[in-house]
Amino acid sequence: MQNLKNQAISSILETKNEQELEELRIEYLGRRGQVTKLIKKIPSLSPEQRKDKGNLINETKKIIEEAIISQKKNLQHQNGGGKENWFDITIPGEKPAKGHLHLITNAIEEISDIFKRIGFHSISYPEVEWDWYAFEGLNMPENHPARDEWETFFVENLKHPKYGQAVLTPHTSSGQLREMQRLGKPPIRMLDIAKCYRRQIDTSHAPMFYQFEGLVIDQGVNITHLKGTLDFFVKQYFGPQRKVRIRPFHFQFTEPSFEVDISCIVCGGRGCKVCKQGWMELGGAGMVHPTVLKNGGLDPKKYTGFAFGWGVERVLMMKYKIDDIRLLFSSDLRFLKQF
Ligand SMILES: [Zn+2]
Repeated sequence: MQNLKNQAISSILETKNEQELEELRIEYLGRRGQVTKLIKKIPSLSPEQRKDKGNLINETKKIIEEAIISQKKNLQHQNGGGKENWFDITIPGEKPAKGHLHLITNAIEEISDIFKRIGFHSISYPEVEWDWYAFEGLNMPENHPARDEWETFFVENLKHPKYGQAVLTPHTSSGQLREMQRLGKPPIRMLDIAKCYRRQIDTSHAPMFYQFEGLVIDQGVNITHLKGTLDFFVKQYFGPQRKVRIRPFHFQFTEPSFEVDISCIVCGGRGCKVCKQGWMELGGAGMVHPTVLKNGGLDPKKYTGFAFGWGVERVLMMKYKIDDIRLLFSSDLRFLKQF
């Protein structure tokens, strides 16, 4: 009986199609099948044999039946047949996961778009810059202590005979001189959005980051034009409720210079833990220094201008209340999918 069962199961497992399987079913369980024959003999057995042998035969029958059903499913699955595998071509397909542009890319597009509406021309100046454009031409001569604030990366063994040492662009302000040289004469309305590099890393500083630099030069440009432009940007980007204020500050390449603050998004300007008495610091601005105009080839007696330079990540983090700049560069989908 054991032999019969083993032989039946191994033959069933070896079948390659339902036809072969059906033949085996007939061979074992059909009307004249081997198992059926044994079952028919049960009544002729002695009462003692009937109980033990009878049970064994019935059990063998059951096992073979189950093996056939199971093998039938396997064959149907392999051949792609059967009701379970019926394929409905009218069901809509599964949509592939769709990503989106990175937050920084979106912010760059949004910022460019806002300034475009008031006549600014978008440009990206180089990521590797000569010292003259980054410092000297911006009224920061060699060894000037103000340079320390820029934590600059220097490019070894690369020096321009006229413009000096090569550096990784530490701020987009170098674009001011490039734009003046490129156009030759005002009106200038530049928005330079580019990568900058500094030796710094913490929750609000990354060694590589983006800045956007606005520069407007023409006859009769004054501080009210600067204030109006800042106001327009802040209301467009952060929302109509936000207010702007400018505080006196010092930069080498603007005179007068300002720090620009916006009213706090958390407390609405009343004062809270996040802000300083209702205000949050956005970045620097000022009227272009006469020396810088001169270095750019323009006559400071004829033209005036204003400039501002802010971090793309900084305004983005302020808008969405992100507290660690490194999240923006971590490629962590759990973070990115929230936007
Ligand atoms: Zn606040």
